[in-house]
Amino acid sequence: TAKRTGRNQFVFFGNDAQRVSVLDGGMVHDLRLALELDQIDVHYQPIVDLATGRVHKAEALVRWKHPQKGYVPPVEFIPIAEESGLIHAIGNRVLQKAVQTTREWNGVCVDGVLRRISVNRSPREFYGYDGADDWISHMNTQGGCANMLSLEITEGLLLSDHPKVLAQLKQLRAMGMTVALDDFGTGYSSLSYLKKFDIDYIKIDRSFVLDIVDDPADRAIVESIIAMSRKLGIKLIAEGVETQAQAALLAAAHCDFAQGYLYARPMPQQEFLAFVRAAENTPLSVPVLFNHVN
Ligand code: C2E
Ligand code: MG
Ligand code: MG
Ligand code: MG
Repeated sequence: TAKRTGRNQFVFFGNDAQRVSVLDGGMVHDLRLALELDQIDVHYQPIVDLATGRVHKAEALVRWKHPQKGYVPPVEFIPIAEESGLIHAIGNRVLQKAVQTTREWNGVCVDGVLRRISVNRSPREFYGYDGADDWISHMNTQGGCANMLSLEITEGLLLSDHPKVLAQLKQLRAMGMTVALDDFGTGYSSLSYLKKFDIDYIKIDRSFVLDIVDDPADRAIVESIIAMSRKLGIKLIAEGVETQAQAALLAAAHCDFAQGYLYARPMPQQEFLAFVRAAENTPLSVPVLFNHVN
């Protein structure tokens, strides 16, 4: 009925107004300006092969290089970028910089193995009027860069089960991108989508890695995730590895890769390139496993 429609409409606009009201207009303006002034910067953090100590790939992490505040972390502006729609422009900027960095990195690699940099993409960047079409075509104009990149998505995106998302993820993989499921274990962890979507990597969330040495429950969870993923042919990356003891446990549990402050913090481009150049000659230290029994 009209009345019902009216009420529904009221509720709809009411929610919308509320959503808009959480947006800080000044912040949106500043963020837009930051894009124009090229203050949207990217730091890079190596992801290390636990068996060889080689840098396998790296993650691109956005930073706002603010003239007064210094590097502003994503938690302070990504939610606003998502709400305001600026996330699309920011995502494209990150992509563009990550591609350039990957090209430079591959220029210094001595073993001929192609290195990739992974970029994070919010669910918001898959929805909206054209979903991921815009940045998929942006990638195409960057000239065959998809095989230099990896995509980090979260469980929330897959949960929506949207046919368009499924198709776009397929398209991105067909173009040569690999896909990593980020923050694994913190969301809904419906294991059914590991079967339904083609996923190359699972990133075990930092919260499980944190107490892996002291907490048998966390260790059991991590070992189960690893065992399951290996059977599905999915590679594992542990996030937030800060100590040698954590790395040793992860290696013993057959985790493939590790990322964390133990190896390096996210670094500005030039520092990162110097880091990987040095790592080309001298692999990073990795745990040595003695008499490991499964
Ligand atoms: P994430 O994708 O899970 O990224 C990992 C976060 O853990 C990063 O925080 C990184 O700096 C931090 N980290 C890495 N190693 C360690 C460690 O050993 N210990 C601790 N305590 N932390 C560690 P950051 O850079 O603040 O990024 C936070 C989140 O912001 C990311 O989580 C990601 O969800 C989002 N994000 C970052 N860059 C982008 C982007 O370009 N686009 C979008 N849409 N989201 C992004
Ligand atoms: Mg990530
Ligand atoms: Mg993560
Ligand atoms: Mg995380």
